[in-house]
Amino acid sequence: MISVEEALEKVLSCVSVLDREEKPILQCLGQVLDEDVYSSIDVPPRDNSAMDGYAVRAEDVVGATPSSPVFLNVIGEVKAGDIPKEEVGALSALRIMTGAPIPRGADSVVQFEDTDEALRRERPPFQIGILHQVTKGQNVRRAGEDIARGQLVLKRGAVLRPAEIGVIASLGKETTWVIRRPVVAIIATGDELAALGQPLPEGKIYNSNSFSVAAQVLRYGGIPQILGIARDRVKDIKDKIKEALSADLLLTSGGVSMGNYDLVKDVLAEQGEVSFWTVRMKPGKPLAFGMIKGVPHLGLPGNPVSSMITFELFARPAILKMMGKKNLSKPMIEATLEGHIKNTDGRRIFARAIVSREGNRYLARIAGPQGSGILTSMSRANGLVIVPEDVEAVEEGEIVKVLMLDWSEE
Ligand code: AMP
Ligand code: MG
Repeated sequence: MISVEEALEKVLSCVSVLDREEKPILQCLGQVLDEDVYSSIDVPPRDNSAMDGYAVRAEDVVGATPSSPVFLNVIGEVKAGDIPKEEVGALSALRIMTGAPIPRGADSVVQFEDTDEALRRERPPFQIGILHQVTKGQNVRRAGEDIARGQLVLKRGAVLRPAEIGVIASLGKETTWVIRRPVVAIIATGDELAALGQPLPEGKIYNSNSFSVAAQVLRYGGIPQILGIARDRVKDIKDKIKEALSADLLLTSGGVSMGNYDLVKDVLAEQGEVSFWTVRMKPGKPLAFGMIKGVPHLGLPGNPVSSMITFELFARPAILKMMGKKNLSKPMIEATLEGHIKNTDGRRIFARAIVSREGNRYLARIAGPQGSGILTSMSRANGLVIVPEDVEAVEEGEIVKVLMLDWSEE
């Protein structure tokens, strides 16, 4: 048996960062930037108003109060998108809208609420009463205060979240270079499997693994390619594997345990270098890994929960590494256990649990029966409670580590 860490290390040592592609920025969400992004402009490009109000010279309104307002001559109006023509001279002001450029001569903006604007329904020119003084620069956004021309805005290696997509857009850039997403071929193996969308033949089960695994691939940024079901026959498996050779990663499910019809093993052994591992974990201990004609292959166990959990532990980090990501692990928290877990055979247990927050601590409640065929308990769970190999039991109330799958706290 090998440890989870040893298995992961071997998987990761066989996958490398993929090549780059240039795409419209919105399509790059979740991908890793593969260029340094510099700005050729100031953002914002000009000094502009942070408020609806009056652009003034701060020195003109010193000492203004509601009981002794300073009256300024309003010489015009400027809206966002306009270029102000007028210059603000002594004791004058320009009515200004949020985002509009600050006119020449003005250095501050008095917001509407600090004027007697509400009493006036006139068009310029008219007089406005200023009720509060402002400091120089008040309510003015400076040119380049967000991003200065020439600045390195985003570094190669940044993960593009909505905020980064917005930052790139604010530079006027339509496309960017990112590490491309891996294409992940998915093959389900087993004579017992039936395709979805048709009545279930006697003795068969629906092929759910291809879909749970493809959804995991999608969720973590890969492009799933479902290649369907390979029967437990050497030729069938070989043919399907041929179809997968243009992918960046091949995931199979089933056929890697000790059963008589577990042919994936034999086919793999013949086609490439492959290791069969018994990983010291539960669920999901049989796992195959190797290279088939240059394509890394991970043979996930057939049981629906085992295939999902081994995906989380081994396939997800491989996909993230291919995408150029550096943080390959999911968040781990500490929680108080509700219920108890026995560990009878010295493996690391990943128990499906429902994690909720209670005050300033987390509670982890076991999500029902833990058989590796009980997929609905995976659906109920949002985390996996980890019981280390050398711990024989954890009891109610003990603090446990939980690998979080989702952060929903309902
Ligand atoms: P195996 O590892 O091939 O022995 O498969 C173990 C068990 O997992 C099988 O008996 C099936 O019940 C289940 N199984 C295998 N492949 C799938 C699949 N694609 N979808 C759902 N269940 C599966
Ligand atoms: Mg099978």
